[in-house]
Amino acid sequence: MGDLIYPQNTIAVLQKYKFNFQKKYGQNFLIEAHVMNKIIAASCVTKDSFVLEIGPGIGTMTQFLCESAKHVAAVEIDKNLIPILQDTLSSYGNVDIIHEDILKMDIEQLVMEKNEGKPIHVAANLPYYITTPIIMQLLESSVPIESITVMVQKEVADRMKAEPGTKEYGALSLAVQYYANPRIAANVPPNCFMPRPKVGSAVICLDCYKNPPVQVKNEKLMFHIIRASFNQRRKTLVNGLNNFSEIPLTKDQIQQGIEMAGLPANVRGETLSLLQFAKLSDCLYEMIPK
Ligand code: SAM
Repeated sequence: MGDLIYPQNTIAVLQKYKFNFQKKYGQNFLIEAHVMNKIIAASCVTKDSFVLEIGPGIGTMTQFLCESAKHVAAVEIDKNLIPILQDTLSSYGNVDIIHEDILKMDIEQLVMEKNEGKPIHVAANLPYYITTPIIMQLLESSVPIESITVMVQKEVADRMKAEPGTKEYGALSLAVQYYANPRIAANVPPNCFMPRPKVGSAVICLDCYKNPPVQVKNEKLMFHIIRASFNQRRKTLVNGLNNFSEIPLTKDQIQQGIEMAGLPANVRGETLSLLQFAKLSDCLYEMIPK
């Protein structure tokens, strides 16, 4: 299974096609079989699964996914990789190679057309320059997703999984944890890639919730509050939220909302859990003139 995972085979393909790595596309190809096996196991993909793979590269992970899933849609931005993928995946009948920018693609339509609108799995060794936009776009979209299993920078994986009060905790942690339960499946050193990235990596699996773990009256307001709280980490919550244009309340009203939510007057945003942000958001929402 998956012969490209061996470095000598990756090198042979790169030489055959005289492929030049494009730094601007975040191209670091995985060349370590035990890491690939961990990704596939963590993804919980089965023979019934439809998988969207973002950035297949030369098709290394795609080969493993084709063996494990019912169908794979592999979306690659670099046109020079398309003929290579057509070659390396030629023996699989259950893959669509799509030449597109994932951030511009209508994924919902793809899922309707190819999987009758049923939930999909996402798997990727992500291009690190757009990790957060890709993940947030997937989570905030109405695409039905069961899980997202991705290789990301270690530091980004730590932020997604971070708990209140830690230095890694921030808007990304709360956004991810509102939509999914994150679990880190593996830490991956630079020597598992060709070429080697400058930073350590990790495989993180986001098991998407059917319903968010907290109920909130106005999701958008809660995320504005979260953003405002972490924009100025050093400030107390009341000062962080004051003067933030999306929160049309006076300092006194914000202070009152903080007290109504049962929080200390001088609390800092970085210590609040998702549940506390939801409660605060509901208290402030009641005060905003509709
Ligand atoms: N999956 C391969 C592997 O594991 O060896 C390659 C992973 S490499 C880190 C990231 C891949 O994403 C590259 O093939 C790159 O060309 C592709 N890519 C970068 N930006 C993209 C975008 N906006 N849409 C789709 N693919 C993209």
